[in-house]
Amino acid sequence: MIEGRELANFRKQLLGWFRQFQRDLPWRRTTDPYRIWLSEIMLQQTRVAAAIPYYERFLEQFPDVHALATAPQEEVLRLWSGLGYYSRARNLQKTAQQIVAKHGGQFPAHLEDALALPGIGNYTAAAILSIAFGEKLAVLDGNVARVLARLGAVRGDLRESKPWQDLQKTADRLLEQQSPGDWNQAMMELGATLCTPKSPQCLLCPVMQFCESRKLGIAESLPEKRRKRATVEVTLAAAVFTDRKGRTLLLPPPKDAGEKASADHVPTLVSKMWHFPTLSVTGDPAGNLLAFLRKQFPNAQITKPQLTPVGKIRHAVTYRAITILPFLIELKSLPRISGAKHVPLSDISSLPVSNLTRKVARAALALVPANR
Ligand code: SF4
Repeated sequence: MIEGRELANFRKQLLGWFRQFQRDLPWRRTTDPYRIWLSEIMLQQTRVAAAIPYYERFLEQFPDVHALATAPQEEVLRLWSGLGYYSRARNLQKTAQQIVAKHGGQFPAHLEDALALPGIGNYTAAAILSIAFGEKLAVLDGNVARVLARLGAVRGDLRESKPWQDLQKTADRLLEQQSPGDWNQAMMELGATLCTPKSPQCLLCPVMQFCESRKLGIAESLPEKRRKRATVEVTLAAAVFTDRKGRTLLLPPPKDAGEKASADHVPTLVSKMWHFPTLSVTGDPAGNLLAFLRKQFPNAQITKPQLTPVGKIRHAVTYRAITILPFLIELKSLPRISGAKHVPLSDISSLPVSNLTRKVARAALALVPANR
């Protein structure tokens, strides 16, 4: 695929197109590794348009690696709240602390050092080092893999180890040596704007003449579908306490993200952030929840009739299809338990919470009398 003189033309056309038509994105106006690193982490599972306001707010609060390293974790998670995949935020801060402790506050410019940092894999390291330091490292993520597969009419499951390694070799070979940062961004830009998963816009593509899959008329059918991981159904029950002042009770995330949640039943996918008392259930959700609450809050003396079902909420996280069954429990005063916080049910986002917890709060709020 694309060799010799063709390769020089291919590089020239793609780079020329990128330099003329690239989107004006905030992280493209800098070569500061801290900002590029932040953008790369945010963009890992988030669309560009959704990431921009988070990126700007985050930088306002934490303008450099020192500010991030010394911030309370809760504040970092609060600013991340809504972006999902919170391990990214925790790793970001851990990495900032390591950069301060081991690298004098400078993002390491060598690949091995970068790869040793939490949350930095091959793709992220190549992106940061090429853009910020001009290192000759080619990026390969799903976006770039799709472009390469179409350019070379590569069939099969790209995420299998052998095809992925071959794609990395192709990406390395195509890499433009003078401007590796721009080159990597040009490949990503092509995948994000024209060579999109559905309906690639081949007629506007600057490298159309080099593209095997377009010549064969199979561009839209590549990459071929991956074998899907079976969906796992999870059912959770959650207790939304309220008192007369409209406050509710949230439990804290474990101190160490790797630590198992305090109670065995609390699913870690909920408990990594501030959360309502929650457990996995099978069979009788209200009965299971009641038994759990009596153990957790022995002084609250909760009875089954106090559990008002809020309805069913559905939520998907990667391969998990979650059904959450919240129960509203109105009490004169909220139970007291070490570490828990009492916050207004209408404003739980003052703490770092997941989208799932937010959904539960919204649904429960609809049942709480407005004159509270
Ligand atoms: Fe993608 Fe079409 Fe360009 Fe080929 S010609 S790289 S399929 S946009």
